[in-house]
Amino acid sequence: MKIARRIQNVRESLTLALTTKAKAMKEEGIDVVGFGAGEPDFDTPEPIKQRAIAEINAGNTKYTPASGTPALKKAIVDKLKRDQGLDFTPAQVIISCGAKHSLYNIFMSLVDDGDEVIIPAPYWLSYPEMVTMAGGRSVFVEAAVEQNYKITPAQLEAAITPRTVAFLMNSPSNPTGMVYSRDELAALGEVLERHPQIVVISDEIYEKLVYDGTEFTSIAQLSPALKERTLVVNGMSKAYSMTGWRLGYVAGPLELIKAMGRLQSHSTSNPTTFCMPAAVTALETCEAEITRMVAAFDERRREMVKRLNAMNGVRCPEPRGAFYTFPDVSSTYKRLGVSGSIEFAEKLLAEASVSVVPGEPFGDDHCIRLSYATSMANIVKGLDRLAKFLA
Ligand code: PMP
Ligand code: GLU
Repeated sequence: MKIARRIQNVRESLTLALTTKAKAMKEEGIDVVGFGAGEPDFDTPEPIKQRAIAEINAGNTKYTPASGTPALKKAIVDKLKRDQGLDFTPAQVIISCGAKHSLYNIFMSLVDDGDEVIIPAPYWLSYPEMVTMAGGRSVFVEAAVEQNYKITPAQLEAAITPRTVAFLMNSPSNPTGMVYSRDELAALGEVLERHPQIVVISDEIYEKLVYDGTEFTSIAQLSPALKERTLVVNGMSKAYSMTGWRLGYVAGPLELIKAMGRLQSHSTSNPTTFCMPAAVTALETCEAEITRMVAAFDERRREMVKRLNAMNGVRCPEPRGAFYTFPDVSSTYKRLGVSGSIEFAEKLLAEASVSVVPGEPFGDDHCIRLSYATSMANIVKGLDRLAKFLA
């Protein structure tokens, strides 16, 4: 069977595949502790669900404008002003079927064959695959555990070439949970200001999930010059526990947003109609629900980090955002007889019934990713098993 070149070398999303596998094993009655999930374990807050049900009952089930409803665009514009102090017009916003779709639209609308996109590593595993699909080349800037998984301005400067079209920033980060401070961002911003041709893609999907008094800063907040060429990407999945609703958005330069709108008008058309008013309800009324979820994540985060760092051969910097830990376990590979993170994860699942995501597809084979978007009981049980496995 002929398969197009553009998709031949694209790997399936391992995070989604592993989440599906752990769910299936549990349904079969196997006692697996799953740390793979990249989604909150909480139900979607009640007012959001009720709004969608009411919209369906009212017959709000037909096409909307392809780039999303004016009402949700307005709610997003208000949110960006309220939370980040950023000014956008509704025309500078496009709503898509999840932030993953938003990012796909961005790469397809921005990247030509051979163009380079700078991606700090470790990275969320879908970025490079999307760049490849768009015909571009990912240029990785590596920040291992020794530098707290954060890149330096000098590293960024060294990665820029005449072919660089975009720099991708993801803070709080999936998979590391690291959050760049305002000063760290400003230092990167100084480099970017010297290269005005570079578009900044800022994936802010974990914005609301920050701990220990950490303040979220968007790179678009640093200067008007940077804001003018930053695409702010966000969505409903993580903060509002709405992963299955498939709603994400981008705010940014009008010309690019319009290009993405043309693409979307010929591909998916509008995101699901009755989900959009429910997202308005989420953005406008659900701050307290977020606070509750963040408090639960925070408690689990502390427990997980404490336990991981007490284990033989595990090194886990404290994440300040998202809901992942990304411990370096490479010092155990030799004694476990594994060649890297993929074999480590396979052996852990086979011998201890604990499912984690290997770091390799995130660009760091020394590490594994564990999500703490699971109950405290699971964390205790799973990490007891991991400790035994490593002992
Ligand atoms: N960016 C990052 C960093 C993510 O972890 C995710 C989660 N899958 C997304 C974007 C996309 O999320 P969604 O498509 O569910 O909005
Ligand atoms: N982003 C989440 C994760 O990394 C969800 C799965 C996915 O879309 O990749 O696990």
